[in-house]
Amino acid sequence: MSEKGRLIVVSGPSGAGKSTVVFKAIEGRKDMCFSTSVTSRKARPGEVDGREYFFITRERFAEMIENDELLEHAEYVGNCYGTPRKFVEDKLAQGMNVVLDIEVQGARQVAGKMPDAVKIFVIPPTLDELKNRLEKRGTETEESIAGRLTRAREEYAEADFYDYIVVNDTVDEAARELNAILLAEKCRFQNRVQYLREI
Ligand code: ADP
Ligand code: 5GP
Repeated sequence: MSEKGRLIVVSGPSGAGKSTVVFKAIEGRKDMCFSTSVTSRKARPGEVDGREYFFITRERFAEMIENDELLEHAEYVGNCYGTPRKFVEDKLAQGMNVVLDIEVQGARQVAGKMPDAVKIFVIPPTLDELKNRLEKRGTETEESIAGRLTRAREEYAEADFYDYIVVNDTVDEAARELNAILLAEKCRFQNRVQYLREI
């Protein structure tokens, strides 16, 4: 019996390891896909346009908002980020589960429009470890790291909005936690109730 696609919102401080864990968790799964966001920030070395993000100008970003092409959007540490609406709507309609990696303001907008979305907050074991990871990733200036640590504290204060917390100590265990949540959500009563209606 076909089940409808679920929207999975993953948030957490920049550098917590969200993209590492999400890609590990959905690797090889045909029922899951990642929604690639648009951003006005510059690509980091190694990032590929269309894979991590679609890298666009602020002008194009404003045009996408104007044309209602974004499901949600927000500014984060000086740059704009948004979720292209059509991709998400098309995949959900096809029965795919769609993962969004977005910050808290965007997550609130999505939850307002799609109350069934599963909201997961990914954190590092400690804030010291977050700083280590941001430094080790080697992609941010000192100023950008400081901005991300400030935002991390602000986001922790809002985290009670989420349904689940995944602690990313090791990537394998965090990916297992994420997959366990997805499996439990799949078995939720309201997501399976159509089987009962068959009788
Ligand atoms: P985010 O998407 O949350 O900004 P990334 O996935 O880019 O974070 O991870 C930030 C950095 O931390 C990367 O260099 C990544 O390789 C590293 N990392 C991710 N998860 C772990 C982990 N469990 N242990 C150690 N390093 C990690
Ligand atoms: P980064 O610059 O480190 O890739 O991302 C910074 C923050 O922006 C992260 O918290 C990430 O989850 C968030 N982000 C990425 N894409 C989007 C998006 O489409 N919308 C919103 N609201 N946040 C996003």
